[in-house]
Amino acid sequence: MAARVIDGKAFAATVRGKVAEQVAALKAKGVTPGLAVVLVGEDPASQVYVRSKGKQTVEAGMHSVEKRLPATASEEEVLAVVAALNADPAIHGILVQLPLPKQVGEAKVLAAIDPAKDVDGFHISNVGLLGTGQKAMVPCTPLGCLMLLRDLHGSLSGMEAVVIGRSNIVGKPMAQLLLGDSCTVTIAHSRTMDLPAVVRRADIVVAAVGRPEMVKGDWLKPGATVIDVGINRTPTESGKDRLVGDCDYASCAEVAGAITPVPGGVGPMTIACLLANTLTACCRANGLPEPE
Ligand code: NDP
Repeated sequence: MAARVIDGKAFAATVRGKVAEQVAALKAKGVTPGLAVVLVGEDPASQVYVRSKGKQTVEAGMHSVEKRLPATASEEEVLAVVAALNADPAIHGILVQLPLPKQVGEAKVLAAIDPAKDVDGFHISNVGLLGTGQKAMVPCTPLGCLMLLRDLHGSLSGMEAVVIGRSNIVGKPMAQLLLGDSCTVTIAHSRTMDLPAVVRRADIVVAAVGRPEMVKGDWLKPGATVIDVGINRTPTESGKDRLVGDCDYASCAEVAGAITPVPGGVGPMTIACLLANTLTACCRANGLPEPE
C-alpha cells in the first residue's frame, strides 16, 4: 500500500495561522513580537531564506528587522550588530543566518546571542537545556519534524527512532527531542556499520544527511514513518536543478506507512517554527503565558 504523504506545507500554514492569531492577541495588549535576521555576505541560498523569513514574519503580524552586512564585515562588526539587537527591547528573536564568511567565527557569534532571544536554539545554553530536558529554545527544523510526528502518531512513547545525521543543527537536537518523547533513539552517521540494517529496525526514520536519495525503500521496516530533512539540488537533463531529499521517494513510499515529500514536507515547517519560537520568546520576555 502506498504511504500516506505528510503534507508539511499545509501543516506549516496551520502553525503560521495559529501564530498570527496569537500575535494579534498580543498586539491588542500592546506587545508586538519582533524578529531580527542578520545576513552577512551575499550567499544566494541565504538571501532566498532571509527574504522568505522576512515575508512570513510580516505576514504573521510581527515586527521584522533585517540587518545586512557585507561579505567583508569583521567579526567585531557582526558582534556589534548582535549586541545592539540583544539590547533592543522591540526584538525578541535573533537569527544569524549561517554560513558566515570565514573571518567571522560562527561559535563566537552564536555564543554572543542572548539565549532568551536565540530563536534558532543554537546557543550552548539552549543546547544544554534541551539535553537536560529543561525548557529551551528548540532548533526550528527538528522542532518542525517533531510536530509532524506528534500530529501523525499522537504519542511517540516506546517507538524505535533512527536519526541519520549527527549535526548540531538537525541530527543531535532531533535525537534529543525524540528521546524527550520517550522513543528509543539511535543516531547513525557516516561511520555507522550496516546502515540499512540499523534503519530497518526503526518505526521512525529521520534522514538529515545531505546525500541525494540515499535511503532506499528496502532499508525500511514496512509501515515506518519517514521524515526526510534533506534538501539536495540535483541537475536534470533539461539543465534545471531538481530538489530531492535524502530518501529515494519512489521506493520509500512503497514501503513506508507515511513519508514527507521534498519539497513540501519538512522545509516549510522550519520557518513556521521560527515564528512560533519568536512568539514564545516574546511571551517569556513579557511574563505572559506561553503559547501551546
Ligand atoms: P551536515 O552535513 O552538517 O551533517 C550531515 C550528517 O550526515 C553528518 O552527521 C554525517 O556524518 C552524516 N552522513 C554523511 N554521509 C553519510 C552516510 N553515507 N551515511 C550515514 N550518515 C552520513 O548536514 P545538516 O545536518 O546541516 O543537513 C542535513 C540535510 O538537511 C541537508 O540536505 C540540508 O540541506 C538539510 N537541511 C534542511 C533543512 C530544512 O529546513 N528542511 C534545515 C537544515 C538542513 P558524520 O558526522 O560522520 O560526518
